[in-house]
Amino acid sequence: MTAITEIFRKKQNEFSCGRCGKCCAMEGYVFLNRDDVEAIAAYMGMEKTSFLKKHTLRYGDRIRFRGEYARGCPMLESSGCAIYPARPRQCRTFPFWYENFRYESSLEHCMEYCGSLRRIIRPQR
Ligand code: SF4
Ligand code: SF4
Repeated sequence: MTAITEIFRKKQNEFSCGRCGKCCAMEGYVFLNRDDVEAIAAYMGMEKTSFLKKHTLRYGDRIRFRGEYARGCPMLESSGCAIYPARPRQCRTFPFWYENFRYESSLEHCMEYCGSLRRIIRPQR
């Protein structure tokens, strides 16, 4: 049987996000790089320092959105992502993360909540 990571590698171009917001609601932190901070602050019409103070926390040498691990991303609203055009790299690159090409367990986990991913990897289900 072909490994799901192999199927994902081959069919990755077929992925199309359905914008259901489930990945945003999953437990975890959303990390921001320097470009993300600039872009999101500008999108929100805030000074960078005010944005950092109000919406982020340090996490070791990284920066993340404020919010509890168990509650998912604080930028998720009932209508979807509040900053979608300026969303962080972590979000823009999902599900094409290194671990999803490398580890079946990681990809399986993402497939539990991402229907678009399930559809390209296991279309028969
Ligand atoms: S769970 Fe999948 S389909 Fe839904 S928003 Fe995330 S990437 Fe898109
Ligand atoms: S920033 Fe937007 S796209 Fe990224 S996890 Fe939060 S709500 Fe989802």
